[in-house]
Amino acid sequence: MKSRILLSVLFFFLVLSSNGQIQRCGTDEHQAALDLAFPELKKQRTALNEAADRLILENPEFKAGLVVTIPVVFHVLYTNTAQNIPDNRLFEQIDVLNKDYSRTNVDAINTRSMFLPVAANTQIQFCLAQRTPTGTATDGIVRVSYTGSFPNNPHTVSPEWDHTKYLNIYIGDLGGGLLGYANLPPGSTGNDHVVALYSAVGGPNVPGTISAYDLGRTITHEVGHWLNLQHTFNSGCVGTSANNCATSGDFICDTPPTANPAFGCPTNTPNTCTEVTPFPPPYTANMVDMYENYMDYTDDNCMNIFSLGQSTRMNAAITTLRSQLLTSLGCVPVGVNEILDPSFITISPTISNGKFEVQFNFPAATSVSLELMDMGGRKIYDSIQKIAYSSTINIDLSDKAEGVYMLRASTEKGFLVKRIVIVK
Ligand SMILES: [Zn+2]
Repeated sequence: MKSRILLSVLFFFLVLSSNGQIQRCGTDEHQAALDLAFPELKKQRTALNEAADRLILENPEFKAGLVVTIPVVFHVLYTNTAQNIPDNRLFEQIDVLNKDYSRTNVDAINTRSMFLPVAANTQIQFCLAQRTPTGTATDGIVRVSYTGSFPNNPHTVSPEWDHTKYLNIYIGDLGGGLLGYANLPPGSTGNDHVVALYSAVGGPNVPGTISAYDLGRTITHEVGHWLNLQHTFNSGCVGTSANNCATSGDFICDTPPTANPAFGCPTNTPNTCTEVTPFPPPYTANMVDMYENYMDYTDDNCMNIFSLGQSTRMNAAITTLRSQLLTSLGCVPVGVNEILDPSFITISPTISNGKFEVQFNFPAATSVSLELMDMGGRKIYDSIQKIAYSSTINIDLSDKAEGVYMLRASTEKGFLVKRIVIVK
């Protein structure tokens, strides 16, 4: 099995290296190699896609949450200082992702008017990971130097963080003119990540260093694949009617079928496929190509839109193929909103006529805010105590009505809730 994997992945890179020109994206070839190497994973992907498709059918404007924030870890793999790109390019790249996926990109104004009705805020956002999979604080950036050519699987140089909970983005000098590649979800351990050329990382304020591909859209595009999007030109001119646009081509009905990738930034109005009526609104028959879509191959400054259909497909993928992202703590800083160790506070007695002794057992001096809530969640007592790490305070709640209450203690590191009962 291992030699087959190596062979197929090697084949993918040899094909790319044989051509000296820029290769916008290697995802199709990479995914084909993965499918060959891991047939079971392909079956799993197919089954999960059926669940995602059902979700889309039932709710064409499906969203995985109000806003879903995906934790990102950058693995910067370098052989020289130019490839070891600075933090501010990585911060800028996160900014590009957040703007592109929320349609707050400044070049959204360049979307042609016929596509404005389908322009989407996906409500998918990204953070630089704040904690590692084992719960320690991090800035979400891992830097590793290596020698030789870029590894076929970068996981061997810098191990992936739990791929179900984090988006791993490897950055390096891929060779062969390749700008990036990714895999479709759900992926498997060690084989589920986005890879991008170091010089294509950045954004309008801190651009990359490769002409025409310096605005961070390589990663916008590759993350689209990671969230289950295909190229707009996938399979060419198929899916040209309302009957088959959801089940063929790019599986999206509001991206017009397109025969081939577009390069540069077209100045004419290419229309490479003939859509037939009835096609879903707002389209009429024979729509022009949406070359400004992030999932085409145009220059970075030519791309500016995800469609509503693409947004739905990505959100459905998060709920089905990548559901572990929804419970990832990767974006939560360590020490904030943690549930504190219950032994830090003891209350005695827990049932009384209103007089309670609260014992603090913190490992260090801690500022604690105490609140008393009734069972309806109403706050009926509020006290801020600056205390030493080990001390006792007495609280008198004799004037409160009989009943069950929650005493909530909050510190800058988290909170703890204890139940008390007042009986008269
Ligand atoms: Zn691609």
